[in-house]
Amino acid sequence: MKQTITILGSTGSIGVSTLDVISRHSDRYQVVALTAHSRVNELAKQCVQFKPKFAVVGSVDAADALKAILAPYDLNINVLFGEAALCDVARECDVVMAAIVGAAGLAPTMAAAKAGKKVLLANKEALVMSGQLFMDAVRENGATLLPIDSEHNAIFQCLPHDFNLDSAQQGIAKILLTASGGPFLHRPINTLHDVTPEQAIAHPNWVMGKKISIDSATMMNKGLEVIEAHWLFAVPVDQIEVVIHPQSVIHSMVSYVDGSMLAQLGNPDMRTPIAYGLAYPERITSGVPQLDITKIAQLQFEKPDFSRFPCLAIAFDALRAGDTAPAIMNAANEVAVQAFLDKKIGFLMIPELITSVMNKIANSPVIDLDGVMEQDALAREAAMHFIASY
Ligand code: NAD
Ligand code: MG
Repeated sequence: MKQTITILGSTGSIGVSTLDVISRHSDRYQVVALTAHSRVNELAKQCVQFKPKFAVVGSVDAADALKAILAPYDLNINVLFGEAALCDVARECDVVMAAIVGAAGLAPTMAAAKAGKKVLLANKEALVMSGQLFMDAVRENGATLLPIDSEHNAIFQCLPHDFNLDSAQQGIAKILLTASGGPFLHRPINTLHDVTPEQAIAHPNWVMGKKISIDSATMMNKGLEVIEAHWLFAVPVDQIEVVIHPQSVIHSMVSYVDGSMLAQLGNPDMRTPIAYGLAYPERITSGVPQLDITKIAQLQFEKPDFSRFPCLAIAFDALRAGDTAPAIMNAANEVAVQAFLDKKIGFLMIPELITSVMNKIANSPVIDLDGVMEQDALAREAAMHFIASY
């Protein structure tokens, strides 16, 4: 029988790559729901090709626009809008690809976990914000959580899949998260103040959405991934290390107490981790060409410079602080990145803004989703205030 799948954020970079893999395996997967925030034309094209039962957009106007475009096709697609509809379609399937960007993806991703679905997690911000709450929802409801972020997918592939082993038996010494270092790895630090959004988005190895591209330039992306790794693999912060590896061929590594180090290699193309998540524990083709190891001239590694990438230090500190600190950091970062993209603040103001918000909003225990969203709202308000008074 075909597996039914909902793709949250189908018009994004991950969403499009997911549909590409699915289109190669139409005998295995049936799309049930596609969602997009505002890019109605792209969503309509996907609806015509994949014929889902549901399409969800961000507003009533977008829903009307989508209905009008789809009217001539006689497709019988239920067009919905808003967060409750996103949560509903996350329950109407076997598999959910969580690929909405940012905090907006938390509620539907959590809904999928609570409904015991197979959750393919790209939306790292959702896990960063909710941490233990999300992992508890997965465990208590028998959901299956598979990481799509390339680093975490690589780590998952390098970990033992005998889930009965306790952490001592697994013998993990360290998780090594690789990072490309982004476009500004070697740019003189004293010129970073005037980089433009266009320069920051131009990632050397990956083509991605705007927000994660800026996060890669500041290395907040790696910071979010440190927190993500902590929750996904139950590894203490001191056993997580970031290694700069500019070629992005090794997607991450696990070192073991016996001296072994396992790595996963491949071309930098998200269709590999997506295909792995979709078919797990089987493997299917993804459209990604085999890595030609003889063509790789060299693999370089270096330690990250925390003074060049203060966001990385902020994220380690937030994980150590625990409670809602990562949620506050995430919200401040989302506002800062948008403000940078809108040219309201400079590149170096991103870490300044986040630090200022984290100093202002008191950290509190993570009790429920509403509490997390409250802290998220407070942090956004403080961030907007910072920008307005800047
Ligand atoms: P993107 O900007 O290309 O796409 C985002 C998707 O989310 C779009 O479909 C958009 O319509 C939807 N969306 C945006 N705001 C929304 C809102 N308020 N409500 C509902 N839907 C909304 O982003 P992306 O690069 O595909 O990244 C998606 C997620 O995957 C992010 O969390 C990112 O960190 C993670 N991720 C991406 C990559 C990558 O290579 N692109 C790699 C690893 C992890
Ligand atoms: Mg990643």
